Amino acid sequence: MGEYVIDEAREEREMQARYDELIEACRALKPLSPDEEASILRAYQIAKTAHAGTRRKSGEPYIFHPLAVALIAVKEVGLGPIAAICALLHDVVEDTDITLDELRMVFGDRVATIVDGVTKIDDVMVMQHTDSKQAENYRKILLSMCDDAYVIFLKLCDRLHNMRTLGSMKDTKKLAIASETSYLYIPLAHRLGLYSIKTELEELVMRYTNPDCYNEIAARIAATAGTGERLEECLTIPVRQMLDAAGYDYRLKTRVKSVYSCWKKMENKHVDFDEIYDLYAMRIILQNVPREHEKEECFKVYALISEQFPPNPTRFRDWITRPKNNGYESLQTTVMTPIGRWVEIQIRTERMDTIAEKGMAAHFLYKEAHPEEQIENNPVEEWLQQIRTSLEQSDKSALDLVEEFKETLYTKEIYLFTPKGKTIVLPSRSTVLDFAYAIHTDLGMHCIGAKVNARPVAIGYRLHTGDQVQVLTSKRTLPQTEWLTQCQTPRAKEAIKDFLRSRKKEFVAEGKRRLNTYYEKIHLKANPQNFGQLKRYFNRASDIDLYYDLAVGTITEQQVAECFGKARPAPRLFFLDPYRDVFENSRRTGDGVVPAEPRVDDPATAAAPFLLDKEYEHLPTESAPCCKPVPGDQVIGIVSDGKIMVHRTNCRVARDEMANHENHIVRAKWRPGEQLSLLTGIALTAIDRHGLLQEITRHISDEMDLNMRAITLEASEGVARGIIMLYVNNVQSLNGLIDKLKTIDGVEDVHRI
Ligand code: MN
Repeated sequence: MGEYVIDEAREEREMQARYDELIEACRALKPLSPDEEASILRAYQIAKTAHAGTRRKSGEPYIFHPLAVALIAVKEVGLGPIAAICALLHDVVEDTDITLDELRMVFGDRVATIVDGVTKIDDVMVMQHTDSKQAENYRKILLSMCDDAYVIFLKLCDRLHNMRTLGSMKDTKKLAIASETSYLYIPLAHRLGLYSIKTELEELVMRYTNPDCYNEIAARIAATAGTGERLEECLTIPVRQMLDAAGYDYRLKTRVKSVYSCWKKMENKHVDFDEIYDLYAMRIILQNVPREHEKEECFKVYALISEQFPPNPTRFRDWITRPKNNGYESLQTTVMTPIGRWVEIQIRTERMDTIAEKGMAAHFLYKEAHPEEQIENNPVEEWLQQIRTSLEQSDKSALDLVEEFKETLYTKEIYLFTPKGKTIVLPSRSTVLDFAYAIHTDLGMHCIGAKVNARPVAIGYRLHTGDQVQVLTSKRTLPQTEWLTQCQTPRAKEAIKDFLRSRKKEFVAEGKRRLNTYYEKIHLKANPQNFGQLKRYFNRASDIDLYYDLAVGTITEQQVAECFGKARPAPRLFFLDPYRDVFENSRRTGDGVVPAEPRVDDPATAAAPFLLDKEYEHLPTESAPCCKPVPGDQVIGIVSDGKIMVHRTNCRVARDEMANHENHIVRAKWRPGEQLSLLTGIALTAIDRHGLLQEITRHISDEMDLNMRAITLEASEGVARGIIMLYVNNVQSLNGLIDKLKTIDGVEDVHRI
């Protein structure tokens, strides 16, 4: 690099030209209001005056750097006037006498916050993996990055310009900046979807960290020089003629593959330079295509191209019918050109191109450009919120946090659908609860599960791309503490915490009242010392938590007494539960609730319930175990082995037997008015949740003519399957119970067995 020659008149003209370029670039995005234009000018003048007399390592006036960063932000990223103002001012607080407060007075809070965030992030701070103090700094930096999405965008623009002008730095500084760029900024650019910035940064990093390889590949690409011109003639021009003739509105872009991506392909695919298929690529971007015709138009263009240039059938990719997980849509084909070189052709619409080029940032930019539209779910802001939450709350070491943050840069999203086909994008590993809260807080708050692709699942079920999710709710369900472990998006977690906090406050008075009566019984005073002792003993984080647990009985009188060493022996527990034999038996066997032994007065073994054809009256009757008929059911009897088996008429076993032993069929009816109990069973499928068993047993006990013998409830993957064995007096009360069980939230199916 030659010596920089200072020529102030030329520099002044150059500055003005770049400033004009910046204003033009802003206007190209959106017409500027007089206020906005005045603010940009003000920012430029302040920065220019403040940096006056300072020069960069390259020799040029310092103001060239903020101007260049502003141009990158506006022209290459597509950010508006605020970004231009902040970029112009981004180094004044750190390097000059101007203070943050002064900026706040002139430009307002937002600009001051953004400049502050950018300032806090030092130019180089390569992580030493063993140094936890350094990691703590990093954590603070990441937090300030999350203050405003503009901080990250501007930091990336700043870094890009520094990398572009790295040549004039000392070698050690070059390496430090380059390695930090690949450690942090390339993943950030990737995460935000700023792919062209990412590609350029990769290229620049390689140039400084792996110069031999870089130069070799760069030389081989240069050796194909002339190919570009020949392709122009034999490919670009004919394609233009073809598209013009067909009346398309389009843009064409051609590119030579970057050194870095050639190198990566050679490394990963173990191919030689000459085997790189897409060294040259052309992109056809169709403009003004209505959304519903996009796919059709892209395929038409593909057909046109293939007619003239033979495609390689193994290299056709349709990312339109099935977009990539990150939302990328495009048709890709590789065709043979008359000069004997393969060229990759991408066909897409303007909309698809924006997504492919700007990824997540595209959503952010769209929102910035349309402030009047209330757009929820801005992925950039949700992502920042997620990082903020994990950085603030976690008790992990700073080092782990930084590693975790880096991981989130590569976290994928999953694409889900509502029953009406609306797409919802969530971070991978999201659950049903996350989905419900993403749609609406109310839906989350009352969520009891979902049908995923028509299959019932619980709230903690992890969703996968392509799942169609129908959230199931119940008005009576409300968030519980355990829910926090069943979701992962900040939106869901915050909403649940908010609810729990507000809920707990309602219990403070009751908790206080109870505590005072407990104190009285053990002759203690309600004072801060005693309260402090309780808090430590029960390890509760806040007063509210302690009062809440007292109010709901999680902390009992007995435990409070124990805390002060005044415990009395616990009273014997006893059951007032009508089904205590069931539960006590289950306790004895220890494997959940299992059938109890029949009681001595088992009504099923009592007198025959049937009024039969007279001639068979002398034979003993038995209720068939296969269909367990109860009074009210349509029944028939089948004679075998000197007794009559009584079946329900729709019993499959009975039907088979009737077919084979026609003459052994006995008409049967229930004896009227008889109070009898027969044992029967109900099978139930439900979404497993807290309180399900209690609700089921409550319904059974409400039904006067029923008496439960046993209940088994097994849950796996969030779905509970239960068998309830009951003594039933008549079919009406059984059907009544089945209908009631069906109304329990989350119950999917109830039927007799
Ligand atoms: Mn800078």
